[in-house]
Amino acid sequence: MIGASGLRGIVGEDLNPELVAKFSAAFGQFLGNGLVVVGSDTRPSNQMYRYAVFAGLLSSGCEVVDLGICPTPSLQLMVRNLEAKGGIAITGSHNPPEWNALKFVRPDGLFLYPEEIRRLVRITESKIKRVSWDRIGKVRRDDSAIENHLKKILSLVDQQEIQTRHFKVVIDGCNGAGALITPGLLRKLGCEVIEVNCEPHGYFAHPPEPIPSNLRELSQIVKSEGADLGFSHDADADRVGLVTEKGDILPEDYVLLLVAKFVLSKRKGLVVTNLSTTQALDDLAADFDSRVRRTKVGDIYVARCMRKEKAVIGGEGNGGVIVPEVHYARDGIAAVALILNYLSETGSSLSSLARSLPRYYMVKRKVKVTPGRFPPPREYLKEQFRGARFSFLDGVKIILKEGWIHVRPSGTEPVVRIISEARTREEAESLSRMGMEKVLKVSLEN
Ligand code: MG
Repeated sequence: MIGASGLRGIVGEDLNPELVAKFSAAFGQFLGNGLVVVGSDTRPSNQMYRYAVFAGLLSSGCEVVDLGICPTPSLQLMVRNLEAKGGIAITGSHNPPEWNALKFVRPDGLFLYPEEIRRLVRITESKIKRVSWDRIGKVRRDDSAIENHLKKILSLVDQQEIQTRHFKVVIDGCNGAGALITPGLLRKLGCEVIEVNCEPHGYFAHPPEPIPSNLRELSQIVKSEGADLGFSHDADADRVGLVTEKGDILPEDYVLLLVAKFVLSKRKGLVVTNLSTTQALDDLAADFDSRVRRTKVGDIYVARCMRKEKAVIGGEGNGGVIVPEVHYARDGIAAVALILNYLSETGSSLSSLARSLPRYYMVKRKVKVTPGRFPPPREYLKEQFRGARFSFLDGVKIILKEGWIHVRPSGTEPVVRIISEARTREEAESLSRMGMEKVLKVSLEN
């Protein structure tokens, strides 16, 4: 399956090593050869894919730098550091263990743009150029990606101030690549560290996505240990989830809200996020005389817009924060450091910082259908939602006085997502029903 960020599939079914080698060779041709950085999360299937990626890249004349197990943001930073032509991250990210994927990285550390993915696919459909025996490159090992990434993150925060607080922190590494970096970061910041699921073997102790339902064990341990807070990563550590000192599991979008609030308190400027992220971000930006720009859903759109518009902070509501001073990549590890800095600077607890955020309720629905004509005609929508503002950038977003509704067909699967948000749960539910009745149903009748 080809998605916005690369090639993904199920191990032993559609994502076979032949396909992986073919896409890697095509990527080599796409880049025009040169140095390519390769790293992976901890999934047991990565051993098989790693050699297929090497074979493909070498066959098209690339030199390979093998980073071994490595968080995706550390790899993205390494591509720039080594001035490589590109990179391949082998990671199923937050997906269950039977999934895996290749994510293709550009020389500037961003993922391939959707139009570049389409070009890559066209190369795989033609005869890929391979080099002769005497022009095949080498694979060399480089173990400096994590140290390099840590150095960059530590330079952003007030290390001394954080160290004086001696935070007690529980880190749930979810047996993923984050287990290799975040405990070390916390120790450098003077924290007492309690490691949970930090053996990087890829047999995930719970589904590797930092959503509230997967953070229950972390919550229990934070409470029983009397810790100041808890962090949990997905398998490749571009995302993070949070638990307060009381053991409360914070909603996913609080990570972006907290980091944005801290960054804006230092420096006003543009915030970038996607159309489905909470309105709380706009309220918060307004408090600091700043604005929010919205993009299509997908971190590549957010990252691209942030770079173009010189945003000060951005990301998505799923715990993936982009800190431009590090790079234009979602980075769950940088988010950990900034949240600790926010706590140490304010002297507050995480629960009181969370309480100070604007409060909204979001309802997310996923409907398994393939709509006919989407979105429905604009005249019809304007009639149904009088006085509303609309965005047609990605599906349709309807902004009303009481909240908003975003109805968006997925680009990769036959589903439509309906997301709504309002001040109360009842209002959010009612908006969600309006999205079903007045938008989705009509597009199915067409
Ligand atoms: Mg991830």
